[in-house]
Amino acid sequence: MSCIFCKIVDKQIPSTPVYEDELVYAFADINPKAPVHILVVPREHIGSLHDAAKDEHALLGHLLWVAAEIARQKNLANGYRVVANTGNDGGQTVDHLHLHLLGGRQLTWPPG
Ligand code: AMP
Ligand code: ZN
Repeated sequence: MSCIFCKIVDKQIPSTPVYEDELVYAFADINPKAPVHILVVPREHIGSLHDAAKDEHALLGHLLWVAAEIARQKNLANGYRVVANTGNDGGQTVDHLHLHLLGGRQLTWPPG
């Protein structure tokens, strides 16, 4: 398996852990775009949101809950953004489904 996020989940590549449970691993983005920039990924390899199957809807919901839980732990009470870049037009560069949790500064809209 050549997927970099699968290797991070398996601890073959080091990362800075933020949260983990049986379904999900969250770690600090190596190239942060905000004071808080965390990636939330399923342990199971799913290529993107586009590839998620109907029977994975509970896992998708859990990913969102984990992002919100981390935001609470990080005291992002002023707000934050959760993003799932998907496919080429969406700017996805790592083909393992992940949520970006971004916070700690005023984020602009629309994104580029
Ligand atoms: P995306 O462009 O939405 O696919 O996001 C991929 C994210 O993965 C980028 O924000 C990268 O900075 C981040 N990233 C890539 N390699 C690593 C790594 N080894 N550890 C942590 N984050 C990484
Ligand atoms: Zn993977």
